[in-house]
Amino acid sequence: MSEKKTPKCPHCGTAMKKWRTPLNSTWITEFQWVCFNDDCSYFVRGWDFMWKEQSVKASYRHRMDPETGASGPLPAWSKDAHKDQIIADES
Ligand SMILES: [Zn+2]
Repeated sequence: MSEKKTPKCPHCGTAMKKWRTPLNSTWITEFQWVCFNDDCSYFVRGWDFMWKEQSVKASYRHRMDPETGASGPLPAWSKDAHKDQIIADES
């Protein structure tokens, strides 16, 4: 998995963004690929799902580990959550 190639979200086709890995996380990479499209079906569906299943107002964004290629949810409590940690693409 090359770091130079920007992966696309499998749910909405939008180019994913580099998101700085929190210091206290278990991920060892410098960043994670995250889909920050607010209209992403995965993110949109998540609100309903979390409300019905957990009674919490939250959702999650599609995340992919650049090292392993493994993907999973990144919990988000609002549309703006985590956006302050997006790493600007220098290219
Ligand atoms: Zn998406």
